[in-house]
Amino acid sequence: MQREYFGIIYESELENEEVHMMIDTIAVSESELDGLTSESINDIDTQLMFITLNRENFSDFMSGKFESAENYERRWVKIDTRVSFGGNRLEVEVYSTNVPTGEFNAESIGFTTLNIGSDSISLIGKRKNSEKIISDKLEELISLNELYDGDKTAQLLEKFKVDMSASKFDKKLQVVNFNVGQGNATGVFDENLEPVLYIDLGGGGYKNKFTYPVAKEFPVNNNPYVILSHWDMDHYETAFRDVAKYANCKWIAPLQDSNFSIKKFANAVKENLVLIKDEFDRVNKFTIGRAVKCTGKKRNDSGIAVKLDLGKENDISEILFPGDSQYTYIDKQLTHVEALCATHHGGKLYSTSNFPTCHKEGEGLIVYSYGKNNSYKHPRRDTVNEHVKRGWGAERFGEKYSLGTTVHNVVFTTNYEVLDSFKIKYPSLGSFNCFYGEDYVKRERRGDNLDKLFSGIDND
Ligand SMILES: [Zn+2]
Ligand SMILES: [Zn+2]
Repeated sequence: MQREYFGIIYESELENEEVHMMIDTIAVSESELDGLTSESINDIDTQLMFITLNRENFSDFMSGKFESAENYERRWVKIDTRVSFGGNRLEVEVYSTNVPTGEFNAESIGFTTLNIGSDSISLIGKRKNSEKIISDKLEELISLNELYDGDKTAQLLEKFKVDMSASKFDKKLQVVNFNVGQGNATGVFDENLEPVLYIDLGGGGYKNKFTYPVAKEFPVNNNPYVILSHWDMDHYETAFRDVAKYANCKWIAPLQDSNFSIKKFANAVKENLVLIKDEFDRVNKFTIGRAVKCTGKKRNDSGIAVKLDLGKENDISEILFPGDSQYTYIDKQLTHVEALCATHHGGKLYSTSNFPTCHKEGEGLIVYSYGKNNSYKHPRRDTVNEHVKRGWGAERFGEKYSLGTTVHNVVFTTNYEVLDSFKIKYPSLGSFNCFYGEDYVKRERRGDNLDKLFSGIDND
């Protein structure tokens, strides 16, 4: 549709001399902006637009000459697709981020292509007063601050601690990292295999929706807790596609920078959402684990990391879920474990400091949660190598789990009986697999097959 949008540049990266931008937009004109409230944005079309600019055409589209790509992050733009084409044309990939509701069962992600003519994207400056008024208003609309209530957070965390008390679970919790394509979703289940806690309810979205075309229907009996590691769609995509189903879960999420798409989702679950501001600045202990706020600046690095400690003696007990945070930003109290969900889907490691260490040297158990052929080329070979080198085996990289067959949900157990009970109870969630104890250790943890598996896969 030809019209005006306001957008926030949510990601801006330079790759091979091209600037890739993801812009989160809302379809309003300047005159409509005044009447908008942060709740009424849920009734207005929002879209993600992906654009690629090369250095030459950069200044045609963005006023001024190219600075560093990151300088554009979190800046506001006005986009007008009604401008008639005179100059360069720009292909824009567009994905709808309107929150689907059960009523009309909408597809979460649409796809169209727009052509944008010269001068139809302009940065909203900060110097002119008129422009500052606009950007302040836009910031206010997307901010999560108004959803933060310290008392509400404190109360829910109290309840969380009681509900997670070990005596209730008697060392019988089971943990599953679900295959949700290019994203992450982990469930913690009680002895009846009912969920008590999820850590992320994500999956492949937008460009990577093909890795997760049909959302899994996770059980939500007794309204389990959901700890959202950080506000990236691949960590809440499953819930996004069926908000009504998951809106009664008890959501615990970090207070982070936002955009229209995030705010819409947060609005949709806000009755049962508490935000973590500084509550996890120090390691927060609960009986079956601990949580901490990661200390980096970027969204990936400033979320919540969780270490589970299930108290088991003869099975996998201590497991780290770093979300997408670099390990260096996670408190040391969390990084000595038996099992690990590799950070950021096996994406680039910027630092190897505070790398997780495993209880038994060379016998760390690891899962990489990614979708085959994803646009980010996760996991990276160098990242996998670094893990293997440090004793973190190669689950999903052995003969049975080549890069092309990430079809399993992985149960963090070495016990076949547990595995079988998941298969019987949840056949609709797909196939399950687990760590095979001695068998696993001997044949798969060495990562012997990496060369073969990565051949033909181009990591740059
Ligand atoms: Zn992610
Ligand atoms: Zn992320």
